[in-house]
Amino acid sequence: MSELQMVQGHLAEMALDVDAAALLIYRAAWTKDMGADRVTREAAMAKLFATDQAQQVIDKAVQLHGGDGVRKGHIIERLYREIRALRIYEGASDVQKIVIARAALAGHGGVS
Ligand SMILES: Cc1cc2nc3c(=O)[nH]c(=O)nc-3n(C[C@H](O)[C@H](O)[C@H](O)COP(=O)(O)OP(=O)(O)OC[C@H]3O[C@@H](n4cnc5c(N)ncnc54)[C@H](O)[C@@H]3O)c2cc1C
Repeated sequence: MSELQMVQGHLAEMALDVDAAALLIYRAAWTKDMGADRVTREAAMAKLFATDQAQQVIDKAVQLHGGDGVRKGHIIERLYREIRALRIYEGASDVQKIVIARAALAGHGGVS
C-alpha cells in the first residue's frame, strides 16, 4: 500500500500536520522561556491546532488500516477513541478559540 500515490499523499499530510503542530508547541514553549509576561495566546493556538491535527491524523490512520482501524482492541481504534477527548479537556476547542480571539482583540502577541 505504501507504494500507492494516494496513500503517500495521506502520509505526507499526516507528517505535515504533526510537524506544524509541533512548531506551534515549540513557539509557545520558546515564548515562555524568553520570559514573556503571558503565553495565553500561543498556548491556546498550540493546544487548539495540535489536538485538531491529532484528530485528523488518527482519522487518516483509521482509513489506511481499513477494517482493522475500527476493530475493538486494535491500537488504531484505541487511539481514535482516546484522541477525541483531547479537544474537550484542558480547555475545549471552542474555548481556546475564544481565548485566541480575546487575545487578538486585546492586542496581545502577534506574528513572532
Ligand atoms: C478523558 C477526560 C479526562 C479528564 N481529566 C480531567 C482531570 O484529570 N482533571 C479535571 O479536573 N478534569 C478532567 N476532565 C474534565 C474536563 O476538564 C471537562 O470535561 C472539560 O473542562 C469540559 O467541561 P464539561 O465536560 O463540563 O463540558 P462543558 O463545559 O459543559 O462544555 C461542553 C462543550 O460546550 C462548549 N463550550 C463550553 N464553554 C463554551 C463557551 N464559553 N463558548 C463556546 N462553547 C463552549 C464546548 O464545545 C465544550 O466542549 C476530563 C475530561 C475527559 C473527557
